[in-house]
Amino acid sequence: MLLEYHIQLKQWTSWVSPYTCLAIDTGRHRILIDTGAGSLGPDTGHIVHTLASAGIVPAEIDSVFITHAHADHVGGNTGIGGVPVFPNARFYVGRDEWAFWMSTPDLRALHAEEFVKQMLIATAQRKLGAIEGNVELVDDEQEFLHGIRALAAPGHTPGHMALVLSSNGSQLLCLADTVLHPLHIEMPEWYASVDFDPEQTISTRHRLLAIATNEKALVHAYHFPFPALGYIALKGERRQWQPAQPL
Ligand SMILES: [Zn+2]
Repeated sequence: MLLEYHIQLKQWTSWVSPYTCLAIDTGRHRILIDTGAGSLGPDTGHIVHTLASAGIVPAEIDSVFITHAHADHVGGNTGIGGVPVFPNARFYVGRDEWAFWMSTPDLRALHAEEFVKQMLIATAQRKLGAIEGNVELVDDEQEFLHGIRALAAPGHTPGHMALVLSSNGSQLLCLADTVLHPLHIEMPEWYASVDFDPEQTISTRHRLLAIATNEKALVHAYHFPFPALGYIALKGERRQWQPAQPL
């Protein structure tokens, strides 16, 4: 199984995870889904540069949807000195996600080292706090912009949200961190140490992967290899990731 995914245990010590944010131009709105990791790692913080390569300057982004408040999804909310990177954006954040991180988050159940938990809490509160004046809280099934509907996808974090984008009869399902590696499509029972509630993570996966399969939707999965787009096909009793052709 692991070999099918090019994972050789003897050489495989870590998974270098891509962070692929999604920018959407509806003609009326320029929307960004998550803002990347900012200064979290040595090779992160390229969101402004990558948007520029698509001909978009940050001031043109009028809407940002935050799938959840992990550091690698909200890190780009602010730049050096805490300056907002998207000064004209309205930020849409799940109501439960906001409430969880902005109160006193209890991460005791998480299988992570204490310094990681403290980093997650501090970063979430700092990066969400920086956008507090421009936030609209979003509920399950809410179409917060025309053709863009939020779906509660709890488990990875308590208020984690996925998205369905509809246009001219076709759909894009944005899974965010519902799955972290293509392996999770085939083995949805294999959860990660950063999944807050494993049981809920697995049931959310089953629900969303069934939607993706039934609707034959194009899928975006934030941590999958670039361009992080593909389809979910049936493979016997299970499912399998089918990457879309590179852009
Ligand atoms: Zn995450």
